[in-house]
Amino acid sequence: MGGQIPPNHWKGALNVSYRIGPGFTDDFKNQLVRMNIHTNNQVTRIYNVIGRIRGALEPDRYVILGGHRDAWVFGGIDPMSGAALVHETVRSAGRLLSKGWRPRRTIIFASWDAEEFGLLGSTEWAEDNAKLLQERAVAYINADSGIEGMYTLRVDCTPSLHTLVYDLTKQIASPEREEEELSLYESWHKKDNWTNDRDAPRISKLGSGSDFEAYFVRLGIAAGRARYTKNRKSERYSSYPVYHTVYETFEVVEKFYDPSFTRLRAVAQVRGGLVFLLADSQIVPLDANQYAISLDKYTRSIAGMAQTHLKDMQTYEVSFDSMFSAVENFTVAAREFHERLQTVNRADPLQVRAMNDQLMYLERAFIDPLGLPGRPFYRHVIFAPSSHNKYAGECFPGIYDALFDIERSVDREKAWNEVKQQISIAAFTVHAAAMSLAPPA
Ligand SMILES: [Zn+2]
Repeated sequence: MGGQIPPNHWKGALNVSYRIGPGFTDDFKNQLVRMNIHTNNQVTRIYNVIGRIRGALEPDRYVILGGHRDAWVFGGIDPMSGAALVHETVRSAGRLLSKGWRPRRTIIFASWDAEEFGLLGSTEWAEDNAKLLQERAVAYINADSGIEGMYTLRVDCTPSLHTLVYDLTKQIASPEREEEELSLYESWHKKDNWTNDRDAPRISKLGSGSDFEAYFVRLGIAAGRARYTKNRKSERYSSYPVYHTVYETFEVVEKFYDPSFTRLRAVAQVRGGLVFLLADSQIVPLDANQYAISLDKYTRSIAGMAQTHLKDMQTYEVSFDSMFSAVENFTVAAREFHERLQTVNRADPLQVRAMNDQLMYLERAFIDPLGLPGRPFYRHVIFAPSSHNKYAGECFPGIYDALFDIERSVDREKAWNEVKQQISIAAFTVHAAAMSLAPPA
């Protein structure tokens, strides 16, 4: 507890005993700190840099690779370890272009400005282009820091990207020196499996704190991110020790995080591979069945959370039956959709395009134009950044927030009515999404 006393030259000028952690000593847990913060309020011009490769067959379908370029100080990790990977992906695409290749769909590369000031560049571009993106965007892959630890791969993405991530990482070699014969998938699987319910590498839901936010939770575009990470079981601090400090330099990456740059290359292969396959596969590689599995899991989890108030649930007649029934509809619709996809006539461009559109618009179907209660910017009914930690993701956020702290609500009946309303919205949305997967007529 409390950790060791640091060397003298590390100490600051405050009248306290300086310690280097981890965690706080007991006598520090109830201390209050008064902070005086000085900031400058001024208007500053920012610059997004956008590059495009026009799609050969479907130029009006967009796959976006975007990441920020601004940094708090030197940005050796955040964002440059990721921004460099965007440059390498552009360079690789350029090499293919010079050999005569053109992607089936349009690829958009974006270098965002002012991410650290509140995701400003990416959000402005999403708002400027909202109508086009809602009509045409297939997926958004984020390219922030490529490395935050030396242990294994970390992927956060929408459920419909799970299968593609697994298929792709089986094609990429492990970057670890002692694992030359293993694929990235095998190495990742060995180090970070799902906790209980399935035998595959663990994939997290998207939270926020980076530029995918407006694309995913506001516009409803399938989104994902990948980076190299620490061992979350033994390294239990948030983020990484030099995060956002003056010590985030290129030397830290070169000397400690990735001396041979093989880990960053593997991350580049994941990000670039996702973009390449999303842009160039004849059938859009999104999997509605994986969404069904996740919806079922999230519904059980949120219903389980409510069950801790069993007596209230009986008193106020709260039930999750409508949600379980909607998830069942979705599961059947997804299964039947993918069965039909097996037999689609791939020589008929209209049939292919119709089914690809259903896949592209699936994520859009989870958007509620009214937004979440008190958070109109967040419109995704299944996912939102947590109201309590913006970096983390929450599922069924409308219901979760209505349930959160319900014990302490002054008007119990009103609070449970809000839960019931959020359950109705979730059930309606999942059912509507299921219908979007049905045959056209
Ligand atoms: Zn960043």
